[in-house]
Amino acid sequence: MINEVLKQKIINICENEQGEVCGFVVKDKNNNFDFIKVKNRHPLKESHFLISPVDFLQIKKEYIIEYLFHSHDGTSIFSEQDKYCQKFHNLNMLLLCKKTKIWSEMKCK
Ligand SMILES: [Zn+2]
Repeated sequence: MINEVLKQKIINICENEQGEVCGFVVKDKNNNFDFIKVKNRHPLKESHFLISPVDFLQIKKEYIIEYLFHSHDGTSIFSEQDKYCQKFHNLNMLLLCKKTKIWSEMKCK
């Protein structure tokens, strides 16, 4: 899991944003963790997220990706679609419920 400072940074970003926020928790060359928000390109942003492959590859080129992150407005439970998405991309997933501030993570097997 990530440290409290980074968690707070992500919470602040989510609170200033409508709909689901998505991005990546990454590790840079100096092994520092950071969060990079990417544009949610899903037409139904209130309940879904979609990351463009270009954004993904750009970040993958520069950083080590630790988690694929997104937020939910009211639940801390991963959806079936989230689970599918994780299998497809083979990335650890991190989820924040905006309402309860509960974090959930789902690691790759
Ligand atoms: Zn989700």
